[in-house]
Amino acid sequence: MRGETIDDVVVVGGGIIGCAIACEAARAGLRVRLLEKGAFGGEASGAAAGLLCPQVEADRSDPLFLLGLASRDLYPEFARQVAEESGLDPALSPRGTLVVARRGAEAEALDRRGSFQRSLGLAAERLSDEALRRMEPALNPDWSEALYLPRDWTVDNEVLVRGLETSATRLGARLQGGARVERLMVENGRVAGVETAGGGLRAGAVVIAAGAWSGEIAGPGIAPLPSYPVRGQIVCFGPATVPVHPLFTHGCYLVPRRDGRVLAGSTMERSGFDKTVTGSGLSALSASALELVPALGDAPFHSAWAGLRPATPDDRPAIGRARTPGLLYACGHLRSGILLAPVTARIVTRLLLDEDPGMDLSPFDPCRFLK
Ligand SMILES: Cc1cc2nc3c(=O)[nH]c(=O)nc-3n(C[C@H](O)[C@H](O)[C@H](O)COP(=O)(O)OP(=O)(O)OC[C@H]3O[C@@H](n4cnc5c(N)ncnc54)[C@H](O)[C@@H]3O)c2cc1C
Repeated sequence: MRGETIDDVVVVGGGIIGCAIACEAARAGLRVRLLEKGAFGGEASGAAAGLLCPQVEADRSDPLFLLGLASRDLYPEFARQVAEESGLDPALSPRGTLVVARRGAEAEALDRRGSFQRSLGLAAERLSDEALRRMEPALNPDWSEALYLPRDWTVDNEVLVRGLETSATRLGARLQGGARVERLMVENGRVAGVETAGGGLRAGAVVIAAGAWSGEIAGPGIAPLPSYPVRGQIVCFGPATVPVHPLFTHGCYLVPRRDGRVLAGSTMERSGFDKTVTGSGLSALSASALELVPALGDAPFHSAWAGLRPATPDDRPAIGRARTPGLLYACGHLRSGILLAPVTARIVTRLLLDEDPGMDLSPFDPCRFLK
């Protein structure tokens, strides 16, 4: 055991969730250590498209939708704080997202989605074909229907994670890359720290934020949380000047970045811990992208990559305390971890401080998997 001051909390995993928790907990005055087995932001959080879009698919009110809305509300302050503390601007774009569709059944679904969301007081504007053309002239005219969601934004998640990493360090958290947690340390019925290849690290609490690998972390008498990876591939074009807005449609989205790149995503594949970019992934995503915005066919191919989304058996994240004292989970954010980072960090920090998390956490209770 190292003869150092015992940390208040060890956070396992340096993706957006772990980095956001480290920042929030350090800001609250806790002594934080953040352990990452590889590079900070090197997994799903760096691979994501950066959509902050709880509304794009929401046809009914459920706990995950409400959590997404709550997190989106926190984003302007979250992004401002990271930019100020780190000097890195994560480019929160206030442009709003267009959910586009063709005439017929898809358009009727947009009508219903818009009415439902407006009934909750959310901004969701059904556009005429003319208005849509004005906003997005390069869109294939077959897509004549649109719902404009002015508050569904985007962020540059790669810059954001780098910013969070810098902020966490400046706030006094101790960050260690290349530090793989092997197992939990348990003493007198509570989690007392973690074991790494370099030795044991004691802490008052441990937060597992290890993304798709969270299910690999266990300890004496503590079973791992069931979790698995869902591969997502992205094809990137650019520089390109179209589309102007993020475009979302069934099975495909396009996200324009500040630097002129356009990301086309994404696949959802159960292929284990395999981050291969496949021929069929490239071809399907490119075809969908060009169908939406044909002019992208003239844009240079820029790059392609894949990341592993962290999933749980019911597709909802696990956020909160485990049965064993001293252990918390913040994982399983699947397709929405970038969106959900601010609210997750706030909840976990409040739990670490023994404060009221401020919302009903039962739908996300990790213990639902820990029978
Ligand atoms: C292609 C794609 C597009 C996406 N688009 C969006 C989007 O537009 N909007 C959105 O909100 N979400 C999106 N997501 C989902 C989002 O990326 C994830 O939900 C989010 O990044 C999860 O963050 P995380 O920190 O939990 O996981 P990760 O970013 O995977 O981080 C977990 C970290 O834990 C580390 N780790 C694992 N095991 C250990 C260990 N034993 N010891 C130490 N460290 C360990 C890993 O190396 C990793 O860096 C997308 C995902 C993909 C793949």
